[in-house]
Amino acid sequence: MSKLANKVAVITGSTRGIGAAIAREMAREGARVVISGRNQTRLQDMQKELEGLGAEVLAVPADVSKMDDAKNLIEKTLEKFERIDILVNNAGITRDNLLMRMSEQEWDEVINTNLKGTFNCIKAATRQLMRQRYGRIINITSVVGLQGNAGQVNYAASKAGIIGLTKSVARELASRHVTCNAVAPGFIETDMTAALDEKIVEELKKQIPLSRLGQPEDVAKMVVFLASDDASYITGQVFNVDGGMVM
Ligand code: NDP
Repeated sequence: MSKLANKVAVITGSTRGIGAAIAREMAREGARVVISGRNQTRLQDMQKELEGLGAEVLAVPADVSKMDDAKNLIEKTLEKFERIDILVNNAGITRDNLLMRMSEQEWDEVINTNLKGTFNCIKAATRQLMRQRYGRIINITSVVGLQGNAGQVNYAASKAGIIGLTKSVARELASRHVTCNAVAPGFIETDMTAALDEKIVEELKKQIPLSRLGQPEDVAKMVVFLASDDASYITGQVFNVDGGMVM
């Protein structure tokens, strides 16, 4: 039996990396998927790929840092599928720099995409989720939001902010049977981490008890679990998917 049969899942930042893996895994589990991102070409390629898996797919271009785009993403979803069961806030960026060198723009871009983008999409979807008296919100944070990281004050603050937002939304929406949880990946092999120096990667591996980098699918499996009916008694929690890096 498919874990997400007929569920409607909106996944932000699903043109590549972890978001794309979540969309694939959800499609395989029978969900109708709404994919989204800024790059239209990648969006179209992804749509074809998912349709090849037999899924019903809607592709909506959106920059989550803009409230109007978030609203449009949810409106287009409702026009086509008439409901939203799952919202995965995955879109995220880094603009790393030491605090002393970090520009206001680097701070703003990361906060606006990662933290405000998550708020925008939840805000746009909430009325519908409450009306349905059903919903699963899953926010992608990071172990960096728990531990902090030199060179990432903007990113760590955005990801820590997502944790506070997750717990508050969980409390606000629980009475309507809408759950809200966060997943904190460790070091996952995607475009985001591809630019890191090999030496740094080897050093990082030493801090991972399972001594390998994570794959996007490792995160996707946790997200599917939280979106499934098996997770109906879980809300306001943060789940690390990090090979044991933080414990
Ligand atoms: P990638 O850089 O590989 O992919 C990022 C995705 O987000 C792309 O699909 C991109 O699409 C989309 N995106 C970026 N900015 C926006 C925006 N303003 N509006 C809409 N979509 C946007 O990153 P990952 O897959 O590695 O990361 C996914 C999430 O996981 C992020 O939130 C990241 O912080 C988090 N994470 C990743 C870790 C890792 O080690 N990789 C570790 C911990 C957390 P497009 O370019 O088409 O807009």
